[in-house]
Amino acid sequence: MNVSAMIAMLDDFSRAADWALFLDLDGTLIDIASEPAKARAPAGLVPVLEGLHRSLHGALAVVSGRSLDDVDRILQPLKLPGAGQHGAELRRLRGGRVLRPRPPSAMRRIAERVIATMPEGALVEDKGHSIAVHYRRAPHLKRTVQARVARALAPDRREAHVLHGKMVAEVKTNGIDKGRAVDALMALPPFRGRVPVFLGDDRTDEDGFAAVLRRGGHAVRVGDDSFFPGGPCLADPDAVRRWLGALRNALD
Ligand SMILES: [Mg+2]
Repeated sequence: MNVSAMIAMLDDFSRAADWALFLDLDGTLIDIASEPAKARAPAGLVPVLEGLHRSLHGALAVVSGRSLDDVDRILQPLKLPGAGQHGAELRRLRGGRVLRPRPPSAMRRIAERVIATMPEGALVEDKGHSIAVHYRRAPHLKRTVQARVARALAPDRREAHVLHGKMVAEVKTNGIDKGRAVDALMALPPFRGRVPVFLGDDRTDEDGFAAVLRRGGHAVRVGDDSFFPGGPCLADPDAVRRWLGALRNALD
C-alpha cells in the first residue's frame, strides 16, 4: 500500500464497520497530565467510546501502560475491553473478567531498587508488571533517572527491560508488549476476523503498530513524527476525539 492510500483511511469510513479499534489512552485519547493520577477524560469522550463500542459490536479496546483499574477510573462508568500494563492485563469483553497473571518476582526486587535510588522530583509508579519513573515535573533529571533505572534493572535484566517514552523511563516484564495484547484480543470474538486499527502516540505503541500492520490493518500515529514517521497521523488527542466522533457518526 502506498502512503497516500494509507492516509486515505482517515477520511474513508466505507469499510470501517469491519474495523477493530485499539486505542492508547494517554497522549492519544486524553492529554498527558502533569502527573498520571491527575488525568481526566474530557467531556464527550466516554459517550463517543460507548457508541463506537456498540457500532463495532464490541470490537473496541483501550491498550494502555496504565493498569486496567486506572483506565476504568478515567473512563468511568465504562469498563471497556482492553489491555493494561502494556498487555500484562487483558479484558476481552465490556465489563468482563480481567486476566491478571502474577508478576515475576524479579519485578519486586527491581521496584525496591528503583524506589530506593530515584532522585527527588521523579515520580515512581509501581504497577506490578511494570515500573514507570516519570520526570515530567523535572525534565532536567532525564539522564539521572535513565542511568539509575538502568542500574536498578541490571541484576535482573533477563526478566525485564527498560523502555524510554515521553518523560518516562519504564521497566517492563520481558515478553509483554502491546503487540502481543493485540494478537491475544484478535484471536477471539468480538475482535477475530476484523481489520485492526491502532492509534498511539509513543514508542510503546510501536509493537501495537507492527501487530496491526502484520494483519493488514492500519497504524495511526498521534502527534509529531519523533517515532514511526510516514503513514496516517492525527495531530493531538483533540484531533483524535474529533476523528472518533466522525467515525461514530459514519457508523450510526
Ligand atoms: Mg500514550
